[in-house]
Amino acid sequence: MKQSLSYYKEQRNQEWRVALQKSMKAKDRMALERVKMPEVAPEVRSKSQTIEVNKGLTDEMAFQESKRCMDCANPTCVDGCPVGINIPKFIKYIENGEPLKAAATLKESSALPAACGRVCPQEKQCEANCFYTVKLKKPAVAIGNLERYAADFANKSSEKSIPEVAPPNGIKVAVVGSGPSGLAFAGDVVKLGYDVTVFEALHEIGGVLKYGIPEFRLPNSLVDIEIENLRQMGVKFKTNFIVGQTQTVEQLRKEGFKAFYVASGAGLPRFMNIPGENVNGVLSANEYLTRVNLMFAGSEEADTPVMKGKNVAVIGGGNTAMDAVRTAIRMGAEKAMIIYRRSIDQLPARAEEVHHAEQEGVIFNLLKNPVEFLHENGKLTAAKVQHMELGEPDASGRRRPIPIEGKTEIIPLDIAIIAIGVSPNPIIPKSVEGLEISKWGTIIVGDESRESSVENLYAGGDIVRGGATVILAMGDGRDAAAALHKKFQEKA
Ligand code: FAD
Ligand code: SF4
Repeated sequence: MKQSLSYYKEQRNQEWRVALQKSMKAKDRMALERVKMPEVAPEVRSKSQTIEVNKGLTDEMAFQESKRCMDCANPTCVDGCPVGINIPKFIKYIENGEPLKAAATLKESSALPAACGRVCPQEKQCEANCFYTVKLKKPAVAIGNLERYAADFANKSSEKSIPEVAPPNGIKVAVVGSGPSGLAFAGDVVKLGYDVTVFEALHEIGGVLKYGIPEFRLPNSLVDIEIENLRQMGVKFKTNFIVGQTQTVEQLRKEGFKAFYVASGAGLPRFMNIPGENVNGVLSANEYLTRVNLMFAGSEEADTPVMKGKNVAVIGGGNTAMDAVRTAIRMGAEKAMIIYRRSIDQLPARAEEVHHAEQEGVIFNLLKNPVEFLHENGKLTAAKVQHMELGEPDASGRRRPIPIEGKTEIIPLDIAIIAIGVSPNPIIPKSVEGLEISKWGTIIVGDESRESSVENLYAGGDIVRGGATVILAMGDGRDAAAALHKKFQEKA
């Protein structure tokens, strides 16, 4: 949760921080170049589903980068962080040679900093608000890379300890969904003494962190470390359990669960509704990534089939589209392209993913929009695409793509992967009586309380926001945990 400016100022005036501020002149700090994240060469990594692209900063690199941070009196970077991480404090702990304290500072606000350091869109959040970006027009302090460094350091450290858990209060709480939001919620309420069970529809815990985001961007082992910590703190996990089907919320209530946190995500893929979309060779990014990431369809030993093609197009421009197209390259595609109806500056994906995709040979077919999939005997052969141009800005502030009359093109394809967005998972919204739902199918909750129209049923993450981000999903989980505890304490 974000703190007041006076809190950050008070922290900044601590003796050790003042000593660091005095240890180096501001102009010398500002003269330092941003440290580049070392990465595996594109020709090596693009042959493997599991080699992580970014290698992480060394101790020396992290120390060097931490010196660039000016420890601003008004740390504007914090305004850009959805959960208000005390950014200068964690960076100054790195400069002070105390990465474990840096990691502990991160953990005060973020449940999974090792994941957030890797997948948060920093260039639109904290780094967009950094003094270097705003005032100096220079590359921001590499906040995300430093976050990853501190979190990884703590994960590898032998000094790691399991957080203290309050004595059991006997109150049973059910969490629906084990993505980042459910895990963040579970971690907070178990610490407060609640008896927590996480129910997960799939056979694996982790939600999109496991079945969506590929290993080459976020290793599953990092998510597993957090899951193991939660287990040791007392969180129970039930997999292959669809709440609303295996058992309903009402049935679980009868089994003694007093409160629910629904974090069932937005895993329902959207399609384009154009002719030919149901032919063999057109599939959703969700299905494609799940087959490869969760069912290991890329490995020789796995028996899960997955479509492989020479000419693969992914329709869309977000993180899911980048993950799918880069996965296709790793699955042996000779030509892998993004087809997107706007221009490169408007791609919603993280800038780093677009850069990495370009390095790996992804073709960007921009200002084009499929209007039909062509086939022979039910098998995809090509996409007919409409050429577009940019018009006036729309409600999102981005210039609206407009078709250029009479200008179309046929692009030969074996596989088309649709990544144009997702909708909320419908099972809980449909199966709980009295639950207020928006016209988009998301669960409506109070801004502060995070409680839905059904008493003691809280919700957060993508099931409330639609497709959003990992850090927002975690932030919701933490806010809901605090709100639930407040309510139950008031009742006691
Ligand atoms: P999810 O992670 O979707 O988890 C929901 C879980 O609930 C799932 O495991 C599901 O199986 C389970 N579930 C659903 N219904 C039930 C039920 N009835 N009973 C039991 N279990 C149920 N965000 C970023 O910030 N940066 C990125 O780089 C990024 N990349 C992405 C790449 C891909 C491919 C995708 C798909 C998303 C990406 N996102 C990214 C978005 C981010 O992952 C999501 O916003 C986030 O995971 C939402 O978290 P959640 O906990 O709300 O839901
Ligand atoms: Fe450091 Fe940039 Fe935040 Fe200032 S705005 S405290 S320089 S990270």
